[in-house]
Amino acid sequence: KKRNPGQPEFVQAVQEVAEDIFGFIADKEEYHEYQILRRMAEPDRIISFRVCWEDDKGNIRVQRGYRVQNNNAIGPYKGGIRFHPSVNESVLKFLAFEQTFKNALTGLPMGGAKGGSNFNPKGKSIHEIMRFCQSFMTELYRHVGADVDVPAGDIGVGAREIGFMFGQYKRITNQFTGVLTGKGLEYGGSLIRPEATGYGAVYFLANMLATKGQDLTGKIAVISGSGNVATHAAEKVVQLGGKVVTLSDSEGFVHDPDGITQEKIDWVKAHKTKRRGRISEYADAFASASFHAGKTPWGVPCDVALPCATQNELLGEDARTLVRNGCIAVSEGANMPTDLAGVHVFKDARILYAPGKAANAGGVAVSGLEMSQNSERRSWKESELQQLLLDIMEGIHKSCLTYGRVSDDYVDYVKGANIAGFKKVADAMLAYGVV
Ligand code: NDP
Repeated sequence: KKRNPGQPEFVQAVQEVAEDIFGFIADKEEYHEYQILRRMAEPDRIISFRVCWEDDKGNIRVQRGYRVQNNNAIGPYKGGIRFHPSVNESVLKFLAFEQTFKNALTGLPMGGAKGGSNFNPKGKSIHEIMRFCQSFMTELYRHVGADVDVPAGDIGVGAREIGFMFGQYKRITNQFTGVLTGKGLEYGGSLIRPEATGYGAVYFLANMLATKGQDLTGKIAVISGSGNVATHAAEKVVQLGGKVVTLSDSEGFVHDPDGITQEKIDWVKAHKTKRRGRISEYADAFASASFHAGKTPWGVPCDVALPCATQNELLGEDARTLVRNGCIAVSEGANMPTDLAGVHVFKDARILYAPGKAANAGGVAVSGLEMSQNSERRSWKESELQQLLLDIMEGIHKSCLTYGRVSDDYVDYVKGANIAGFKKVADAMLAYGVV
């Protein structure tokens, strides 16, 4: 806390990891001697820059842009770009730190980074978004590269924004390289990248349920968010026989006891992306649903929960409510959606609980596969990629079992993910000595 004043999210993320790592390294002298955890918790570098752009009325606007390059011990820096008014150095440092562990867990050679801006895309015209993205890349281009740092999308940055940024990078450098992932299929994108995070979080959930001899058939699922991750998580739950009863956005949640079917999910996707609409309008479109303003969905009884919106959206009291209502498994599609108090509630209740760094790694895994395809200058088939995503999520689940098994009937997935991710990066750092 003293080292990082005014950075609560970053301190929270490091604290959560340190709780597990201290136990693991207690008898491992070299990790202490080389100060590995401390070095991982100090980003390699933080780049902060001005992003100046002109709105449709001709006003000059000034925003702040960042790239936090946390660690490249096992591969080029990699992590998303977020455009949201809540973006600040603390949020991006926590995300870059988490990304380092997540990327290691995928088994692919990727370091950890995160970037973004406090730019708010809501209510902006497409031309304003384009001008902003171009201005953002006009500075960022000198810090990234296919073998240096490969950003991707995140909150507020989808395929359209990636297209604007990729176009600007290409224009400035006169190079066509895989500098960004999440690209359109026409110019080097990968099949199943949009689906990968949400699908992956559900595969992880299914892997956890299987350890108890269960699956998703007939299970009631509560999901938060209504963006890329939430809608694809909902889609996979439905495909695997579960019933999704909620979605949300920053204004509240919708409860649809009849179930949010594929048809309704398609409506939400079009409504949120093409029309930039609000989730409250779902209740106008579908009579079976009700909208609950200013609330999160955790009070709705369920068997499984998937927080897929943002950090700290599920607090200690929410976790207690979920457990009380009989929820047996939580798989985090978002990054650090559960606060520390909530994490402890899930751990104490010994329910199946997968932290984002394990459960939502499917997105960055397929981004890693997009990088491989770009290097090879070819596109892999959808069936190949679907199988790789399934295998990678199963592999991450196995790593969590290896390092997180507490007893015959309980696995601490947080501990498992933290230690497995740490060990890989730490061993690479040890090999390099003090650098
Ligand atoms: P989107 O921008 O597509 O969707 C974000 C969703 O979360 C929207 O429904 C949004 O509502 C809601 N939301 C955002 N901020 C808040 C807030 N402060 N309070 C309540 N709701 C909020 O983003 P993604 O779906 O891509 O990302 C969601 C989460 O998943 C993030 O934590 C992200 O870091 C994580 N993630 C994403 C990956 C990806 O591949 N996209 C990969 C791994 C993790 P509204 O429209 O009202 O803002």
